[in-house]
Amino acid sequence: SGSVRALHKDNRTATPQNFFNYESMKQDFKLEIPEYFNFANDVLDQWTDKEKAGKKPSNPAFWWINGKGEEVKWSFEELGFLSRKLANVLSEACSLQRGDRVILILPRVPEWWLTNVACLRTGTVLIPGTTQLTQKDILYRLQSSKAKCIITNDILAPAIDAIAPKCENLHSKLIVSQNSREGWGNLKEMMKHASDSHTCVKTKHNEMMAIFFTSGTSGSPKMTGHTHSSFGLGLSVNGRFWLDLTPSDVMWNTSDTGWAKSAWSSVFSPWIQGACVFTHYLPRFEPTSILQTLSKYPITVFCSAPTAYRMLVQNDMTSYKFESLKHCVSAGEPITTDVTEQWRNKTGLDIYEGYGQTETVLICGNFKGMKIKPGSMGKPSPAFDVKIVDGNGNVLPPGQEGDIGIQVLPNRPFGLFTHYVDNPSKTASTLRGNFYITGDKGYMDEDGYFWFVARSDDIILSSGYRIGPFEVESALNEHPSVAESAVVSSPDPIRGEVVKAFIVLNPDYKSHDQEQLIKEIQEHVKKTTAPYKYPRKVEFIQELPKTISGKTKRNELRKKEWKTI
Ligand code: ATP
Ligand code: MG
Repeated sequence: SGSVRALHKDNRTATPQNFFNYESMKQDFKLEIPEYFNFANDVLDQWTDKEKAGKKPSNPAFWWINGKGEEVKWSFEELGFLSRKLANVLSEACSLQRGDRVILILPRVPEWWLTNVACLRTGTVLIPGTTQLTQKDILYRLQSSKAKCIITNDILAPAIDAIAPKCENLHSKLIVSQNSREGWGNLKEMMKHASDSHTCVKTKHNEMMAIFFTSGTSGSPKMTGHTHSSFGLGLSVNGRFWLDLTPSDVMWNTSDTGWAKSAWSSVFSPWIQGACVFTHYLPRFEPTSILQTLSKYPITVFCSAPTAYRMLVQNDMTSYKFESLKHCVSAGEPITTDVTEQWRNKTGLDIYEGYGQTETVLICGNFKGMKIKPGSMGKPSPAFDVKIVDGNGNVLPPGQEGDIGIQVLPNRPFGLFTHYVDNPSKTASTLRGNFYITGDKGYMDEDGYFWFVARSDDIILSSGYRIGPFEVESALNEHPSVAESAVVSSPDPIRGEVVKAFIVLNPDYKSHDQEQLIKEIQEHVKKTTAPYKYPRKVEFIQELPKTISGKTKRNELRKKEWKTI
């Protein structure tokens, strides 16, 4: 179909190195949405054909290592072969029907990727969850999603068995394990006996493909519904323009398998471009292992979260050489310039920041070749009309702060979620005038660059001023004593609320006179940013409360300040 051809068009013509034309990128990204679309059939199997015909570099589709010498490499053909077997396991042995929901809770093991593709082939709705979920979290997910099947490993199976009687819809349990377990199907064993012949279901482009949980930074995670085209086609904007991927690239994204970010950068964006998905089985984030892998393997594109980059640059990186690496991106939270500068000094590479949500594909990004304005999220991605809007849904002029919105009327763009599952009031609350309201505040400058101010909930109102924590944190982080910081509102009898900074000190500063240090840090902020933004209250803490994906939970700190928890 036309859209698939458009997907596979060589994007390099529009963005040769060192030359970037934003307008031509927007022109280049005009996709027609076909009536039927299935990523497995319309993208992956097309790459298999190209691979067989020798029309693609001999790069694997999937490359997995575990750091202990074990390695898995699959071509697109092998990925097709294995995922068709698993598709047969799902539809035959587990009798799952199109539209049935499958919860997938696995660490970074190859079967996680196979399940992603098998769900596409069978039209079952994938619901990924992180392995750090507790029994209670999983119960909530199983019940609220009415999932019929769960796929997990030895570690979580006992928790599932304990709650399964309370989940009346759950009828199939598959385990990825060397051992068998009572009441469970052994996924690898079942695949051995399954046929490799399977006809991919013909899914409508707007049929539900997956449900992703949001990160839960500002409350409990929301279930976000995505169609086959929203990520399957929409994420081509990430793959082509932000990640700058081609079939010769090897892409490594470090995010946990439980979040939409994995769908973004470990599944759809690289495979749309025919690139290799690289992954390192790492149960925990270990900076030195990451640096070793990054220098040892021919990884060309690297994607990580700001916290992860912060942890990496805190290491001595002089003994590593990153010979293949050519493009680095970050998303999920704002990245402060102290980190991007150190990364550039240590690797010679810029970090291209991107902004998006579980609900969306890339909303704004710094695209390869574009001038980076440090601290800015770049320009709107060609997938969306992004505007700064006021409380009545009117578009605000450059320089004015407001809500970051995506135009959804008269036409809803396809890279956007359909709804929060089973939560119509929450879904409705995101609409204002012609816009989907992201819940983030920002502004656009005269050159069309977008600047993140804060999550709407994190804005501090002090003596009539509106203060975004990110700007204050950026100033704080530039001070040599500060390892990390989080800024929230705190009650004040005169001003209503004031700026309070929670600071994790660098080890060398822990023994300094704290009163003196607080004064010094406050003076530093007054000089770096507008004086009214300086933190009137400062507290040193051992570590910041974070989500599993490493995002600062300011709401937790704020609630403590206001004693609402
Ligand atoms: P929840 O919605 O459950 O509170 P969450 O919003 O953190 O969690 P995600 O969908 O994973 O869940 O994250 C999207 C949010 O992350 C954005 O709305 C924005 O607040 C933040 N974000 C992502 N990228 C950036 C960025 N480059 N700069 C600033 N903020 C970002
Ligand atoms: Mg959110």
